[in-house]
Amino acid sequence: MTGTLTNWAGNITYTAARLHRPASLGALAALVARSPRVRVLGSGHSFNEIAEPGPGGVLLSLSALPQAIDVDTAARTVRVSGGVRYAELARAVHARGLALHNMASLPHISVAGSVATGTHGSGVANGPLASAVREIDLVTADGRTVTIGRGDDRFDGAVTSLGALGVVTALTLDLEPAFAVTQHVFTELPLEGLDFEAVMSSAYSVSLFTDWRRPGFRQVWLKRRTDRPSPDFPWAAPATRAVHPVPGMPAVNCTGQLGVPGPWHERLPHFRAEFTPSSGAELQSEYLLAREDAPAALGALDAIRATIAPPLRICEVRTVAADRQWLSPAYGRDSVALHFTWVDDTEAVLPVVRRVERALEPFAPRPHWGKVFTVPAATLRRRHPLLPRFRALVDVLDPAGTFTNAFVADVLPPRA
Ligand SMILES: Cc1cc2nc3c(=O)[nH]c(=O)nc-3n(C[C@H](O)[C@H](O)[C@H](O)COP(=O)(O)OP(=O)(O)OC[C@H]3O[C@@H](n4cnc5c(N)ncnc54)[C@H](O)[C@@H]3O)c2cc1C
Repeated sequence: MTGTLTNWAGNITYTAARLHRPASLGALAALVARSPRVRVLGSGHSFNEIAEPGPGGVLLSLSALPQAIDVDTAARTVRVSGGVRYAELARAVHARGLALHNMASLPHISVAGSVATGTHGSGVANGPLASAVREIDLVTADGRTVTIGRGDDRFDGAVTSLGALGVVTALTLDLEPAFAVTQHVFTELPLEGLDFEAVMSSAYSVSLFTDWRRPGFRQVWLKRRTDRPSPDFPWAAPATRAVHPVPGMPAVNCTGQLGVPGPWHERLPHFRAEFTPSSGAELQSEYLLAREDAPAALGALDAIRATIAPPLRICEVRTVAADRQWLSPAYGRDSVALHFTWVDDTEAVLPVVRRVERALEPFAPRPHWGKVFTVPAATLRRRHPLLPRFRALVDVLDPAGTFTNAFVADVLPPRA
């Protein structure tokens, strides 16, 4: 029987006929131990087959498990269950006077699923969301729980794991004292003469948006911490009303702008937790490459903007600090992240995705693991130098390949 379970965007239909929702850790462990193929579905916000278990495989959700969010204010850490989303986590953490270092553009995504794919926000000094993780609990294929913490030599392979090691049932994250943020939008930033480093370093988190219909950026979003100095932004004019990054969309779903201070979790995401940011009628692609190559890479995109623009809703440019997770798209290099929100028409989008990948080829971009890309596996292996190490970790923690689906099998290098 063909499944009717889809991802958030609706472009992927999982083959599984049903979504298993174990109600206790014991039931989850037993289900995993008796199933030859298993994948977890988080909040389903990925745009490719990364969560697909394959024919006859078990697709499971943690949504029926008890959801705990335990904040340790003295240690400044929080332990969360594997099914928790950033929206609930952020509210609970903020209520205790603490904060996460960063958030993605929307808070509706699960913590475990986000860190599994290397999800990130923006900020020259802000690592991906996985960089806050200090420990994870994994239910491995034999149904046992393995805890892996920072300092363990498996740790840097275990967080951004593409879901290939086991079921993440709990994560412990670093926190810091809560902070307030103001958000200012500026309009029409020219690409010509752009001092990329200065612009991207001018606030705690900076995003540039363009539709590539004409040169330059339509909007710049600056998220400034109120506890840090905020330099002037002399390169563009301030917006005089709240705006949505996609032209023509109402700003009501967006987090507060016009410099009104708000708590970190109500300003770092672009979209408010209480609204669904869009209907899901979109596809997304994203590529991370060395930040120093940003001006040349933006020039390469500008040269093909007539090709990019037709199926594009919006392109966002962010920065991500280098991290240590072996499979992180930001592994070992301070990165610029070039993101594309496309219309929901795979046929129209894929040729343009390939054209973008060709244009960015000289910069050895690493695609976001959760988005649409066509970069061949052999190329991915060159761009992720620690994939052999990750393969060795899979072989130890999941020797029968219970969590290795087609997506992961394609990426893993052959056994040494
Ligand atoms: C509207 C929208 C905005 C987005 N904004 C951003 C952004 O700002 N920055 C960014 O970097 N990305 C962004 N993304 C991409 C998104 O963050 C990633 O696709 C992320 O993986 C989504 O988390 P999820 O829980 O929905 O994962 P899913 O798609 O459900 O799963 C992703 C992977 O994680 C695995 N997984 C999930 N939970 C577990 C678990 N408990 N144990 C083991 N494996 C697990 C799955 O098997 C799968 O391999 C956005 C996506 C959308 C739809």
